[in-house]
Amino acid sequence: HSFIDLIHSALPQPNSLPSNMNQLLSMLQLKVNFFKKRKVCLLCYNDLAGDARICLNCPTSADSNIAIIYDSDLMSILSILLKKHWKTIFTYKEELRSNNDVSGDLDIGFAYAYQNLLRKFPNENFITALMHLDGVGLCKSNKLKMWLLSFSLIELPAKVRYQRYNMPVVSIWVSSKEPIASVWLGNSIDALKELKVSGIVNFK
Ligand SMILES: [Zn+2]
Repeated sequence: HSFIDLIHSALPQPNSLPSNMNQLLSMLQLKVNFFKKRKVCLLCYNDLAGDARICLNCPTSADSNIAIIYDSDLMSILSILLKKHWKTIFTYKEELRSNNDVSGDLDIGFAYAYQNLLRKFPNENFITALMHLDGVGLCKSNKLKMWLLSFSLIELPAKVRYQRYNMPVVSIWVSSKEPIASVWLGNSIDALKELKVSGIVNFK
């Protein structure tokens, strides 16, 4: 998987996250200031206060039951993506609307589900996000792992859509424990819902 390979190649050896997280984000060309960092206790599921290293509510709290979460500023990264690609999106969406598969590569937008969406909402100028989840081991000795939730836009042609720089990261989970969706993605799902309601205006 190209994304995971890239992370591996970007990581110094031996890996020592999270102190290198900012460096890692910048190597992945993810703008650090688009991410809001928080730490969560995986015993009580509360956010840790400030820069506390362990949870003060849980006597057995340790590094192994803490997750570090980086939530991205969805509105900003999506605006940048749309600004960069609106012409391509506009042109490709016309092909999708007319069900005219110019390249003949049977892309996802010409399949039943998306075509059905177009028929259901013929007058709405929507975009559709395809979610991707990747996990990558960061350190063998403490089982530290990084999980990335990113998305791609169906309204971009496949060869543009799956270029990593066109796949915005929604959130990152760094922990030796597997992600717990409700703990990890609560904020992101709220942000996505808000985005769905408010839409993005003036992106041209
Ligand atoms: Zn706790």
